[in-house]
Amino acid sequence: MNEADYKELKKGGMMRQAEAGLFSVRLHVVGGRLDTTQLRAIHDAADRFGRGEVHLTSRQGVEIPNVRQDSLSALKEFLSPSGVGVGVCGPTVRTVTACQGCRVCPSGVIDSPELADAADRAFYGKPVPHKFKIGVSGCVNNCMKAEENDAGIKGWIEPRWERGPCTLCGVCAAVCPTKAIATAEDGSLTVDLDLCIGCGDCIVSCPSGGMREARRGYRLFAGGKFGRKPFLGKRILGVLTTKEEAMAAITAVLEFFRAHGKPRERFGDTLERTGFDALERRVKEVTGL
Ligand code: SF4
Ligand code: SF4
Ligand code: SF4
Repeated sequence: MNEADYKELKKGGMMRQAEAGLFSVRLHVVGGRLDTTQLRAIHDAADRFGRGEVHLTSRQGVEIPNVRQDSLSALKEFLSPSGVGVGVCGPTVRTVTACQGCRVCPSGVIDSPELADAADRAFYGKPVPHKFKIGVSGCVNNCMKAEENDAGIKGWIEPRWERGPCTLCGVCAAVCPTKAIATAEDGSLTVDLDLCIGCGDCIVSCPSGGMREARRGYRLFAGGKFGRKPFLGKRILGVLTTKEEAMAAITAVLEFFRAHGKPRERFGDTLERTGFDALERRVKEVTGL
């Protein structure tokens, strides 16, 4: 097979193996969720077209290794009725990852699978200057490592102090993991939202309702990557309170990458050139947030 033909196969999720003539086939698994019908179909496909094994990837995906080149089309057709498609590779938006979010996890602040599905429907496989990964964590425990993604989302709770019910017991400041809560000279409490990591611990711990929830929603991180030169994404914007706002912000981030990114340049490197401020300004302009 010539390199041009292989490039096309690779774009469609067929990865050449070390052993000549064999491919590892990447499947499209959004947020690591598969129903039992799909699992059975993958099981049967691995038996029929591979060597009876699958590989679970670091981004919640499934790959079927040891598939012969002349079986690739048949494998795709076999999986199609179950709704399992093949993945993508190359300079495209990759499958969106997500934790189980607030519908399952007691710590969840946002419905991670709901946002992941919406983002995947809108962006999956779309061309960009270099690979682009989106990951959604339902809360700041951050099981999906938002900062390792080109665009990462975390569920976030923003606190607000109210003098009336506060007894100045000091519990909130004591539990805050980032020392974001301080006492001013006049005895009032301040919350430094730059230090705040949105965990909500101060609200849960407050015995009198003096620390309240100002808003909860989605916090966007941009420019993260792993691999050879890891870089943690930085948070931009404030708390986005609806799924629609989160989608608008991710859309604006992708448009920024298309406008400013160079071929084979990861988004974090683009932002190093343009400055994160430029992205934040643009996202604000586009979304009106
Ligand atoms: S990130 Fe939060 S909501 Fe998601 S699984 Fe982890 S603890 Fe639960
Ligand atoms: S939400 Fe968490 S990080 Fe923010 S002020 Fe409260 S305890 Fe501190
Ligand atoms: S925990 Fe509640 S009552 Fe105690 S200082 Fe903080 S806001 Fe006030």
